[in-house]
Amino acid sequence: MSQHTLSNAQDRDRLDKLASYRDEFYIPANAIYMDGNSLGLLSKRAERTLHDLLNSWKTLGIDGWTEGTHPWFYLSEQVGEKMAPLVGGMKSEVIATGSTTTNLHQLVSTFYKPDGNKTKILADELNFPSDIYALKSQLRLKGYDPDTHLIRIKSRDGRYLKEDDIIEAMTDDVALIVLPAVLYRSGQVLDMEKLTKAANERNIPIGFDLCHSIGAVEHSLHDWGTDFAFWCTYKHLNGGPGSVGGLFIHEQHFGMEPGLAGWFGSKKEAQFDMEHTMDPALDAGAYQIGTPHVLSLAPVIGSLEMFEEVGMSAIRAKSFELTGYMLELIEQELQGFGFTIGNPVDKTRGGHLLLEHVEAARICKALKEDGVIPDFRAPNGIRLAPVALYNTFEDVWRTIQKLKLIMDEKRYEKFENKRGVVA
Ligand SMILES: *Cc1c(COP(=O)(O)O)cnc(C)c1O
Repeated sequence: MSQHTLSNAQDRDRLDKLASYRDEFYIPANAIYMDGNSLGLLSKRAERTLHDLLNSWKTLGIDGWTEGTHPWFYLSEQVGEKMAPLVGGMKSEVIATGSTTTNLHQLVSTFYKPDGNKTKILADELNFPSDIYALKSQLRLKGYDPDTHLIRIKSRDGRYLKEDDIIEAMTDDVALIVLPAVLYRSGQVLDMEKLTKAANERNIPIGFDLCHSIGAVEHSLHDWGTDFAFWCTYKHLNGGPGSVGGLFIHEQHFGMEPGLAGWFGSKKEAQFDMEHTMDPALDAGAYQIGTPHVLSLAPVIGSLEMFEEVGMSAIRAKSFELTGYMLELIEQELQGFGFTIGNPVDKTRGGHLLLEHVEAARICKALKEDGVIPDFRAPNGIRLAPVALYNTFEDVWRTIQKLKLIMDEKRYEKFENKRGVVA
């Protein structure tokens, strides 16, 4: 491998077809932002659409539901249509609604139908805590003990999951499978197609949490035959803190009674009939509950324009190049400092990398002091996400140089090795 230098990082930036998108974003002053997998940055387009919708409220009052640049009444469906290509869904299979965790509750309420001996939910021991809390509470609501009814697939090494281990656990007593698409720590992309096929063959509904995959990797949920999926829009989709999430439901399930019903799940034309018998939408819209959080959906409209323009395959290609470049630099510059690479290095790596180190918490603090914004994940993980739309190869080069200096000079030692409240 030839030595990587600042000038060849800059050369790569000059050749980068997506380079102009960086100017679309507000990059925090004097910072190298490597945390787009936790909270994506604000773009000018997202800011504009937020202002547009504030303006509808300001100038139209209640008529904003049906008038203005983006009438609020149809917004969840319209944003859903724009998100559909990101997950490989048909327009009618995707709706913008709720949050990751509330959508998970909705989908489990809809798809988890324990019957006879078929009562267990299959998940994994590496998933994000909120998903596990939700699954356990759903089991309790149905009168089952989560200790015996939530099966969490074990990781052999604490980092990754093996698809074959998961498939082996798809036994007759399993009523539902919920798995992450990309693991939030190691960034491993699970083989969703293979897992879906195995679940379909066994007649077990399967759904994926796309929080760390949407906007970073491609999906073909419809073609794979995945039953459902759910996600947030504030990570790789840059929708802003608490922006409205999304869900996918395969068209083969259209017409299925929503587990958690509410009037916004009605057919649009019937909603204001005010009948006490619900007439649910015949598509993904049925799984909405109440009034959409319009102002938290507004920035997503502008942000998604860029995903539409660029397309997921170009975004994934650049993201993969950036993480590949970072891995090469880690190998070139960070030998002997006690780091372990905690992410897959092959095609199964997602949009972020994980560097493990016993001093990770304070190394992150030293990075922040030096203008690099990483993300710490207890107990020993430094996540770094060079994002296709706004990070450069130079950002990656500088990040690793700064990290090397911090390690060389042991600059992290002046900080406590303890995480902050939000980390
Ligand atoms: C970010 C994330 C969440 C967060 O859930 P919210 O309901 O949006 O707070 C849940 N699960 C996973 C896997 C995540 O990455």
